[in-house]
Amino acid sequence: MRTEQVLAAIERERERHERELVELLRIPSVSTEPERAQQVRRAAEWVRRALADAGCQARLVETARHPIVYAERPAPSGRPTVLVYGHYDVQPADPERDGWSRPPFEPVIAGGNIYARGASDDKGQMLAWVHAARAWHQAAGGPPVGLKFVIEGEEEIGSPNLGPWIAAHRDLLAADVVAISDMDQFAPGMPALTYGLRGLLYVELRVYGPAEDLHSGIYGGAVMNPATALCRVLGRLHDERGRVAVDGFYDEVRPLEPWEREMFAALPHDDARYAAELGVPALVGEEGYSTLERVWARPTLEVNGLFGGFQGPGAKTVLPGYAGAKLSMRLVPDQDPAKVYAGLRRTIERLMPPGVRWDLGAPGPGATASGAARRAPLAQSPEAAPAVLLERSSPFAAAAARAIAAGFGREPVWVRSGGTIPVVLLFKQHLGLDAVLMGYGLPDDNKHGPDEKLCLEDFHRGCRTSALFFAEVARAAGARAG
Ligand SMILES: [Zn+2]
Repeated sequence: MRTEQVLAAIERERERHERELVELLRIPSVSTEPERAQQVRRAAEWVRRALADAGCQARLVETARHPIVYAERPAPSGRPTVLVYGHYDVQPADPERDGWSRPPFEPVIAGGNIYARGASDDKGQMLAWVHAARAWHQAAGGPPVGLKFVIEGEEEIGSPNLGPWIAAHRDLLAADVVAISDMDQFAPGMPALTYGLRGLLYVELRVYGPAEDLHSGIYGGAVMNPATALCRVLGRLHDERGRVAVDGFYDEVRPLEPWEREMFAALPHDDARYAAELGVPALVGEEGYSTLERVWARPTLEVNGLFGGFQGPGAKTVLPGYAGAKLSMRLVPDQDPAKVYAGLRRTIERLMPPGVRWDLGAPGPGATASGAARRAPLAQSPEAAPAVLLERSSPFAAAAARAIAAGFGREPVWVRSGGTIPVVLLFKQHLGLDAVLMGYGLPDDNKHGPDEKLCLEDFHRGCRTSALFFAEVARAAGARAG
């Protein structure tokens, strides 16, 4: 059986896989630091060579800043194609300021972990897919599916050049599914399949009162204070039961299914410990939902920033000329960001007291605005991204679950994430592709922090799981065709 040979090859190559991970981790490919641009390019070149070695046609795609590594290998006739996304750039690592206990670009193996910047995010997780491709190439003459690799070097700076490139290369990038390993398992020994991500709508609300700040003694009582008006509105955006009181907010929210509620409830999660870790005296949220349900699968509205009036030390008796707030809403399937935005406008219209003017739109210059900038209208195109959900009935979700179960020796738990991964949306919007999110990291890997690590055994399990995923996708397609 070809899959068995591939798994045996992966087992034989453990040392080489670790050695190569060390090699890649030694390259300080910090995308945000201009003085390291050459190192970022070195990492790109390293990944390009590794992919060529895995039997792919690999090249660097130049962008305005850091190159994208693109590689492909055609699908055997009638077989599907898997597009693997990852990134070879890393977060900055300042040993002195951040308190690393070892140099961030001199990888050290200790206690079963490999420590270095990028170990988990994302070099180790990404490399598992490259090694899987090479094992298929060398042990079985090639994988049973077509492969496309998009490994970017700008993930940590917001992927400014990836979206336009994907949009301009729809034919080149045509595939059947996207595979991404740039996330975590639920806990050690609890591999996870992340099947849902929340979306995001980010806006700014500004309230204008008098043309200039006024003396609160002389004028207080005669005009509406915009800070008071703002707070009155914000105070009414949630109801007593913790629900968001925006018109139509829940109209299109897809309810949690019984199997999801059961699966989340079975996960080891302790509210008391969670509250203690966060330093809050109690957890609050939408009535009728557990903490994991609230953060993964229910929509929310948060005040992210609040400004206006006197902010300096001491007292100043001022009646501010304006006040504002930055607000974000985390959206779930099947909320439409445009409809939520329209509902928010209607709600504010209804709640805003008389005596002030207001503006709602894309996040503007905020508290630092002065004069004309403060009065300039906000753009009517707020940042918005819908939620994504991989249907459980999708053959790719099932293939990923089987690959994880075999690769990790344990059935994955199905989890959602409260965050937003923009690149998942890029593939969905431009290529119409679903992504399977198979995290090989752990929640305590310290991505972006000091002493970032990756569990080496999980790295090897990741190599196996990635190799198995190719076989499972081919099998699922064969079953469909048959
Ligand atoms: Zn990452």
